[in-house]
Amino acid sequence: MTYVRVALDVPLDRVFDYRCDDAGLDDVGRLVVVPFGRGRKVGVVLALTDHSDVAEERIRPVHRLARNLPVLPGPTLDLLRFCHRYYHHPLGATVANALPTALRRPDSPALGPRPAYRLSAGTSAPGRVEPSLRAFAQHALIARLVDTGTIAAGDLAPAALRAARVLLKAGWIERCAAIDAEPTPPLLDTAQPQPQPQPAPTLELTSSQQQVIESVRATFGTFRCHLLHGVTGSGKTEVYLRLIEAALARGQQALLLVPEINLTPQLEAALEQRFGRAALVTLHSGVAEGERLQRWLRAVRGQAAIIAGTRLAVFTPLPRLGLVIVDEEHDSSYKQQDGLRYNARDAAVFLAKARAVPVVLGSATPSLESFAAARSGRYALLELPTRAASRPPQIRTITTHGVKLREGLAPAVIDALAATLQRGEQSLVFINRRGFAPTLFCHECGWVAPCPRCSARLTFHARGERLRCHHCGHEEAVARSCPTCGNQDLRALGEGTQRIERALQARFPSARISRVDRDTTQRKSAFADLRREIGDNQVDILVGTQMLAKGHDFPRLTTVGVLGGDLGLLAADFRAEERSFALLLQVAGRAGRAGLPGHVLIQTAFPDHPLYRAVVAQDYAGFAIAQLALRSASGFPPSLYQALLRAEAATEAQVFAFLDAAKQAAAPIDPALTLYDPAPARIARVAGRWRGQLLVQSAGRTALHGFLDVWLPTLRSNRVRWSIDVDPLEM
Ligand code: ADP
Ligand code: ZN
Ligand code: ZN
Repeated sequence: MTYVRVALDVPLDRVFDYRCDDAGLDDVGRLVVVPFGRGRKVGVVLALTDHSDVAEERIRPVHRLARNLPVLPGPTLDLLRFCHRYYHHPLGATVANALPTALRRPDSPALGPRPAYRLSAGTSAPGRVEPSLRAFAQHALIARLVDTGTIAAGDLAPAALRAARVLLKAGWIERCAAIDAEPTPPLLDTAQPQPQPQPAPTLELTSSQQQVIESVRATFGTFRCHLLHGVTGSGKTEVYLRLIEAALARGQQALLLVPEINLTPQLEAALEQRFGRAALVTLHSGVAEGERLQRWLRAVRGQAAIIAGTRLAVFTPLPRLGLVIVDEEHDSSYKQQDGLRYNARDAAVFLAKARAVPVVLGSATPSLESFAAARSGRYALLELPTRAASRPPQIRTITTHGVKLREGLAPAVIDALAATLQRGEQSLVFINRRGFAPTLFCHECGWVAPCPRCSARLTFHARGERLRCHHCGHEEAVARSCPTCGNQDLRALGEGTQRIERALQARFPSARISRVDRDTTQRKSAFADLRREIGDNQVDILVGTQMLAKGHDFPRLTTVGVLGGDLGLLAADFRAEERSFALLLQVAGRAGRAGLPGHVLIQTAFPDHPLYRAVVAQDYAGFAIAQLALRSASGFPPSLYQALLRAEAATEAQVFAFLDAAKQAAAPIDPALTLYDPAPARIARVAGRWRGQLLVQSAGRTALHGFLDVWLPTLRSNRVRWSIDVDPLEM
């Protein structure tokens, strides 16, 4: 007997055995459709075995092996197993992350021809028994087959399926492949179209770019993790392009990850121009399901040489992978915040190791985790210390202390915007809050408009005068008077992008102002249109959130004003400064990238804060080293390892009862571990559900995982939804 051991996307931490007599070793990694309960599921074959712990008569046969599709190669399965173990997420649910959604449906035609039935060819098989007159289902099925020729087994109701089995035995009908409307994809195409020869790039590399490229090239064919610390505008993109070119020249594939879907169009354009359309696929959540499958197949079959995408692309099985690049490696968008809570940057490093290829982590503000690894020698540190085509921007703080702000804007910032307009250049006003104002406030009694379903305030949106919750989506009309004291003079307190846009339009009536936030970029092509307008010089002032802060290269943008930066300092968690520093340097880095001098003005009430001093000095290393010292002195990552147990339930009492019990269960397992007290989540109630968390900390990674392996299986609750977050970024 041959059994296949299959990973299925179910919330159970186990694999499932099925009978499959014609399975061979080359079916490991194969997609398979299997019966599960009363339905069917798609899974992946992880292993073959000739004995099972399940009683033989209880093992069901596989429905079909998707032999028309390439298998997931060993290193991809290794990566998935690693994520399963490291993030303590069920194996089957982890494996599902590697499959495009179009392949997760058991009736997907892409999984190959579906089994079907048709009437037997020979009409007078000897000994064939007529169905009895009362076997209605059997007669009905025969009648349907006379009409339609074939019927897919999956389209039959249970009674008809039972009838089919009887008729099959009796020789009335036979198995065949369903003729589906959609053609099934062709078999693995072994032809690997080479990227079209492109005109040689004309840019002459700077000497530091050259050095970086040489260092990485020297490690082709082996695993090495390079941390590329390159200041904003230092030409990291060109380095990536040359490295990709070198990988392609070796006949290999390159995987390039970016943190945000908004960064993919600009990257796509650069890659396409250099390597041609045929060589490239981009993968991100904005690609429609069918198209995503086609692109995935081109990557998996080795037809596309360059795979660029957001975090989900890290799981794309690439048969000829030779190089991995993670751009803006510090970005928290690489961390998935639900289900499999993986960090694609860390997964990329594991993948590179499993494939014995180099990986490049690039950033102007590397994460402290990566920087520490580089300082210890575990990663190779490569630097691009100066801009490639311009001077560094000049960064100044503008104190708001004792200064009369107009709609949140300091006079010095207004003046700088006016001067930039005069020069015909572009400005960016950065404020990381969308909406008109973050609160609606009664100055008589102190009431602020709360969300009825969350422990959060409602944001005032000017459009239609609505109050909206940014956590649960709740929306209501603006109250005319204060619900507690009746005061009719409610005020919008603080500034959001809408308010700044309106204030600037009033101050500069003839300026062309564009607001860029999640509200203005909902339409699919909105961001791409805007990028074109900025490039074509049709915009004078941009008002935007962090969507605009990252990665973009707008040559005429010379002035950046930063509002509300102090908020980051007030955040309670230990990563607040690291995040603020990165965001400020990133947004400052948009200024003056193409020769025109760049000016950055940061409004703050605390100009002498060490964070702002480091930002003004643009001193990443100084900041990072000081932060690392602080982290190790006060016992925080990366000098320690953390996991966060998150719980959510209908009542606060349920959440804390669960977390208290969890803490009690944990205590005896490993006394060397630190267990914090259960605490409410940063926003304790979202959409009517209460949230709490329990932080576990350990000096060693192995000890932490050993503990989780014992602890997590003991956690049980019917009322509480819980999950474990390893290396949590948000607390
Ligand atoms: P980063 O990603 O490091 O912030 P980019 O890769 O966007 O920087 O490069 C910034 C600018 O410098 C781009 O306009 C790019 O065309 C230009 N550039 C990069 N390398 C060179 C070079 N060797 N010579 C001249 N210009 C360069
Ligand atoms: Zn009031
Ligand atoms: Zn809400």
